[in-house]
Amino acid sequence: MDVDDARGYRRLSLWWDALPGDLRARPPLDRHLDVDVAVVGAGFTGLWTAHSLAVADPGLRVAVVEAEVAGFGASGRNGGWCSALFCASDARIARAHGPDGARRMRRAMQASVDEVGRAAAAEGIDCHFAKGGTVVAARTPAQVARAHHEVAEARRFGETEADLRWLDGDEARSHLGADGVLGATYTPHCAALQPALLARGLAEAVERRGVDVFEHSPVTAVEPGRPGRRPTVRTAQGAVRADVVVGALEGWTPTLPGQRRTLAPVYSLMIATEPLPAGFWATAGLAQRQTFSDHRHLIIYGQRTADGRLAFGGRGAPYHFGSAIRRRYDRAPRVHEALHRTLLELFPALGDATVTHRWGGPLGVARDWFSSVGLDRGTGLAWAGGYVGDGVSTTNLAGRTLADLITGTSSDLVELPWVGHRWPRWEPEPLRWLGVNAGLWAMQLADRSEARRGRPSWVAARMGRLVGG
Ligand SMILES: Cc1cc2nc3c(=O)[nH]c(=O)nc-3n(C[C@H](O)[C@H](O)[C@H](O)COP(=O)(O)OP(=O)(O)OC[C@H]3O[C@@H](n4cnc5c(N)ncnc54)[C@H](O)[C@@H]3O)c2cc1C
Repeated sequence: MDVDDARGYRRLSLWWDALPGDLRARPPLDRHLDVDVAVVGAGFTGLWTAHSLAVADPGLRVAVVEAEVAGFGASGRNGGWCSALFCASDARIARAHGPDGARRMRRAMQASVDEVGRAAAAEGIDCHFAKGGTVVAARTPAQVARAHHEVAEARRFGETEADLRWLDGDEARSHLGADGVLGATYTPHCAALQPALLARGLAEAVERRGVDVFEHSPVTAVEPGRPGRRPTVRTAQGAVRADVVVGALEGWTPTLPGQRRTLAPVYSLMIATEPLPAGFWATAGLAQRQTFSDHRHLIIYGQRTADGRLAFGGRGAPYHFGSAIRRRYDRAPRVHEALHRTLLELFPALGDATVTHRWGGPLGVARDWFSSVGLDRGTGLAWAGGYVGDGVSTTNLAGRTLADLITGTSSDLVELPWVGHRWPRWEPEPLRWLGVNAGLWAMQLADRSEARRGRPSWVAARMGRLVGG
């Protein structure tokens, strides 16, 4: 462990382990401050918000307050899929906001993929951004049926062959040389990136633009504003009073007083192999660093890293009673072993290639599985989150949208369907624990039953969605 890494940040993920330089934390908040905007949490949400505000109005005084260091949370640990995925389907958005709402949301997400690449390049951040798209394999007849259904749904909402298409066996295998690939869906709207490089680079970029970033400063309370009193962020050694306070804690949201039932932290876990030889990649493909998955119910996701490893993750870790978050939950041997087995099933040629890294982290899930961004002018409190594992690009959209809301700029962004969406609260325990874990269990059951019988297991999958898996 290096001297500047007493808290073991390099063990957070492959991405953290690969960061150049030392990991010395920025100074903590140790006084009372008055600013225009205070941001709580230095993940992608907080940093993109600070960035967009600093770009929109360089005169704004913005302070970011972070419990650990920038990129400590999901932003420095994720699968690096910078995708156009939004956690709610087009059909669901259309039911509440009409087909045009669904289309506008989709287009905003697609544009966000490019915006992340553009903004990172403009700030001189080399985060290994490669826009190779996503290939999602269909490896059982049930998965083939689901893939065709997904393409048909996309057409219904105006997506063309250029946005999402079905690939027959040979073409699918030329993208992804995994075992048992019968076909695949392919979308160009995704880039693979190294998330910790992006998060750390963004923190430096916002500082260069005049934003104050305080680290090792856990926020103990956020007090809403009321007439004659501005909202306030409190830490053990200081406080920040601001016109607007942005809550950007995602999975950690329930750790703040009064927020226990706002978002549930659900863990996603990952593994990474050692760098793999050219012979392996000659068959495995992913030559454009396409991100990859398959059409099973329980989410899996992978990328070919810039240095030729497979980084691969999935859900399946249990939700912890009381929305608890602990460093020890980042490693769950049973789930990490299951991920390794799944990776070997996909790529038997991996043989005894070494798994060098195992890690994980919490992401935020709203009771209604719908991401949201908004500003309550009455209290001066703004929020963004509930990305359910699709936050790498959505956080960028959130940051730009929050900047428009805070500066009072009318734009297409502030008219998007997710703006101002209010989450229903999660059930109290033990119902929350039972519901989330039953959902995860139902999805695993659906996949096992499909693999055994070769037929879609709609009942189990629907049950999984109903109870929040
Ligand atoms: C293993 C894993 C894989 C994933 N893969 C993908 C993927 O491939 N693609 C994708 O789009 N999404 C993925 N996600 C989700 C994505 O990473 C998140 O949606 C996104 O990073 C959320 O960013 P954020 O800034 O909102 O939250 P975070 O990055 O979690 O940031 C929250 C910050 O708040 C800080 N904090 C906590 N408590 C306090 C406090 N009291 N005071 C001050 N600060 C505090 C934390 O230290 C943290 O830095 C994945 C998530 C995980 C865990």
